[in-house]
Amino acid sequence: MSVELMVFPAQSRLFPPLLLFGLTLALTLGGIFARPIESLSLFWPVNAVLAGLLLRQPRLASVPGFSLMYLAMVSADLVTGSAWLPALWFNLCNLGAVVTIWRLLARLPRQHRRLRTPHGVLRLFAACAAAGAVAASLACLVATPWFDQSLQATWLAWFSEQFSTSVLVLPILLTAPSPRAWRRGASQRVRLAPLLVLLASLVVSLLFGGPGAIAFPVSALLWCALSYSPFLLSLLTLTAGSTLIVAVAQNLMHFSVPQSEAGVSALMSARLGIAMLVLGPLVLACINSANRSLLTRLAHQATIDHLTGAMTRSAFTQQAGALLDRRQRLAPGVPLTLMMLDIDHFKAINDQHGHAVGDQVLRQFARTVQENLHESELFARLGGEEFVIVLPGLAVEQSGFTAERLRRAVQDMQVMHEEQPLRITVSIGVAGCAAQSTRSLDTLLADADQALYRAKAHGRNRVEQAKSQRQVI
Ligand code: GH3
Ligand code: MG
Ligand code: MG
Repeated sequence: MSVELMVFPAQSRLFPPLLLFGLTLALTLGGIFARPIESLSLFWPVNAVLAGLLLRQPRLASVPGFSLMYLAMVSADLVTGSAWLPALWFNLCNLGAVVTIWRLLARLPRQHRRLRTPHGVLRLFAACAAAGAVAASLACLVATPWFDQSLQATWLAWFSEQFSTSVLVLPILLTAPSPRAWRRGASQRVRLAPLLVLLASLVVSLLFGGPGAIAFPVSALLWCALSYSPFLLSLLTLTAGSTLIVAVAQNLMHFSVPQSEAGVSALMSARLGIAMLVLGPLVLACINSANRSLLTRLAHQATIDHLTGAMTRSAFTQQAGALLDRRQRLAPGVPLTLMMLDIDHFKAINDQHGHAVGDQVLRQFARTVQENLHESELFARLGGEEFVIVLPGLAVEQSGFTAERLRRAVQDMQVMHEEQPLRITVSIGVAGCAAQSTRSLDTLLADADQALYRAKAHGRNRVEQAKSQRQVI
């Protein structure tokens, strides 16, 4: 059962709304407890987390879903002693931020929305800025009775907090791997050096202090972007960014801007600067990860035949050549057998039933052969309906049983077409390298091809050995 199913079991309809309510309540309470003496929280992650959740679980984006979020936010404020009116209004501002991010990103194509492209990261920044502006503007509409600072300062404080927190938190939710990808990646080793350099650069930033120190971790973050997945990088940008924001808020970095008329404080300026600093590493991580998956896909396409799943001819030439080289250098006493297989009268299947059925037969043929082979044995499609197998460690004299097993397996195989079973047979030519003898791949292929030609000439659905070796059947 997948983790997703375990989180939202199908039988429990109450569970998702309860989870949404509980999560919103807990995050809002967390934001409230992170409030310093001043009226605005140092971190208000609930808006970004909820927007990320809606983008990953679109079915939560409904009127009941938004109502539940609002109810949970207001409840958290009320139980911690807020008055009714500010609790109702400010949480409407928060909901405004959530809806803005969701509306701006939900319709993006998946690869942009999940930050697999630099374009996606830029759209995320724009959405976070818009959400910050919406929340700040709504807050300012009725802020005067509750804040003792100017409207401009209130707007900037809301905007800088909303924008920076969203930019630091949202990428984590958007890039988080699915349970299956998580399990696949769990065994991969993570390089520690970039992480350690990032931590060291953070310590240097704090010790050195001053406005420029917020940019010290950038080069380490760029290294992390080249070394880690976008998800891991997002966790690191959150760690680095929030450490710096807390350090500025606590005046640990010893810098301040004179309180300007616009009401720009050191914290607002630092927040916006830190949010902007993570843009570069995030874009780089996305480009790097997109390049890596493209290379993996290309390598897969060059190695694996897309129709049958067997190795391609070029990959086979390279791997079988390397195998013969290794054998010659390290284990000349180990014999080796090569078999060439060709489906009998395959053209007639195409002619009678169509190319698509021919493809289906090829796929099932390859599956049947592969089921009868070990992992160490090479199986490739040379072209059309012609395949080759290399069996290291097997002498030609002992290969009769294996070849016959393959021939029978193909003969017994059934491909269902229009509720009728289609049957095929295969002819097999066998050649080999005896212990202590050396032969090139080309000669082995030529010998097996000759043997295959004789199998066809002698009536098909049979196995023949190369001339120098005795006939099996
Ligand atoms: P033989 O017993 O002598 O091997 O006869 P055959 O009909 O199997 O051999 P022939 O070489 O005359 O025909 C092979 C056919 O395989 C011709 C070609 O159209 C078909 N073919 C090649 N590649 C594919 C493919 O990818 N899909 C399908 N469906 N057919 C293919
Ligand atoms: Mg054929
Ligand atoms: Mg052929």
